[in-house]
Amino acid sequence: MRFLYSVLISQLLLFTAFGQEIRYADYNCVDNQEMLTERVNENKKALAAGMAFTREKIYVPVKFHLVADDGGLGRVDIEDMLDQLCDLNVEFEDTGFEFYIDNGFNFIDNTQAFEAPTLGAGVAEMLRARRSVGQEALNIFVTLNARQGDIENGTVLGFYAIENDWIVIRKNQIGNSNNTLAHEIGHYFSLKHPHSGWESDPWDAGRHGNPVLINRINGVQIELVDGSNCETAGDQLCDTPPDYNFGLAWDSRCPPFDVVVQDRNTDTIVPQQNNYMSYFIGCEPYIFSTDQSNLMMAEYNSGRKSSIRTGFTPNQANIVNTLELISPENNTTAEAYNGVLLEWTAVANASTYFIKVRSGQQEIIRFTDKTEIYITEMLPDKTYTWSVTPYNELNTCANKKTNILKTNDVTTATIDPDFIESVQLFPNPARTGEQIQLLIESNTTQSGSLAIYSTAGAMIYQREQQIKTGLNQISLDLNHIKSGLYMLSLSTSKGNIERKILINN
Ligand SMILES: [Zn+2]
Repeated sequence: MRFLYSVLISQLLLFTAFGQEIRYADYNCVDNQEMLTERVNENKKALAAGMAFTREKIYVPVKFHLVADDGGLGRVDIEDMLDQLCDLNVEFEDTGFEFYIDNGFNFIDNTQAFEAPTLGAGVAEMLRARRSVGQEALNIFVTLNARQGDIENGTVLGFYAIENDWIVIRKNQIGNSNNTLAHEIGHYFSLKHPHSGWESDPWDAGRHGNPVLINRINGVQIELVDGSNCETAGDQLCDTPPDYNFGLAWDSRCPPFDVVVQDRNTDTIVPQQNNYMSYFIGCEPYIFSTDQSNLMMAEYNSGRKSSIRTGFTPNQANIVNTLELISPENNTTAEAYNGVLLEWTAVANASTYFIKVRSGQQEIIRFTDKTEIYITEMLPDKTYTWSVTPYNELNTCANKKTNILKTNDVTTATIDPDFIESVQLFPNPARTGEQIQLLIESNTTQSGSLAIYSTAGAMIYQREQQIKTGLNQISLDLNHIKSGLYMLSLSTSKGNIERKILINN
């Protein structure tokens, strides 16, 4: 009985793996195999010529584009994104690469890029985003789908677009401790699959024979166990053994691959199941081989990657999470629901605090470098959780701290803080592309953060703003902002100003 049971389970898993969890694209997760081969050849030539590459830490700037639909909904969870970057730096520890957030996250609200990041309109939006904020970074777009929808045999989880030199990854792959992003970054740094050629045509005794006597599969030389053709066959690397894409339909619990498949010398193939570039799943911890690490280093030092060699060294100081939430105290009721000051302790080496205030479907998110923030969007008579996660551009492993906060139906009488004498915003409504003037009369000097949020809570615009005593005229250039309703917020340590802005076409 036990035997039968386990057979059934393993067949079930096999089916699941084949039906839903095909990991990458219809034939490959790189859109131009030939171009990748050229890169491998060039990088191998550079390595063979004895090119000396630094073995010290390489810091790779990453621009994460967090994509949502037109209404700002559906975006990946920021905490998952921070966890993912933390995992990535553990996964690449032995390679010498470290990845850091280049100038904050970029938010894109565009349904086409969100749902179909391989079609014209979505790609055009992504090109715009890269041009404006991602010129000197590895660009990673986190979307709902990683193609224009599902493919016949499963779902594409992520891919590297070689011509645009960017990675697209499904948001459900972020922060779950799987290796999808590490795999795609492997492609970005010129790595092929160990099962190159077999991507859409995994080994099958009926079609390919056993022993496998054919020499090529989809134009790619078939690699032999004895190493005699490892420089040119498969992934063109000699320290990764042959793999005829046995991983695609293998049990996702990753037992040893024990099907006896022989190459044309009748040598039995033993694939490296825990290689990041294989299609085996569930084989943690995964590895990059030495040859793979060297090839990635050569690609980093090639002309193709000059834009990410910025020479910038991010803050390497670790964050030991000693953050404590100060106020309001856990499980208390806010004095007024529409004006709550959240406060926490400063954490050494943290440059940013991510704040999430949540009740049911409502989610308010903020980023700040201060240790307090004033929230005006909470609703009456609700139970909220509010959490704070400290991080810096390189260190995103600290856990959040969370408190519960209840609201009643009491409102604050004065929304604007005391130092504000008057606020004017014009024109409002404004037309797309029109410059908006913000006039603030203040009775003190005060620094603050000026930001614009979509109604879904996504930050569209942010800058530091100095307020002088007297009349301040602040011009807001909102060229890139689409029509819709927005919230303008000036947050200071003495309270916030909040105003609605309507932008029409
Ligand atoms: Zn791949």
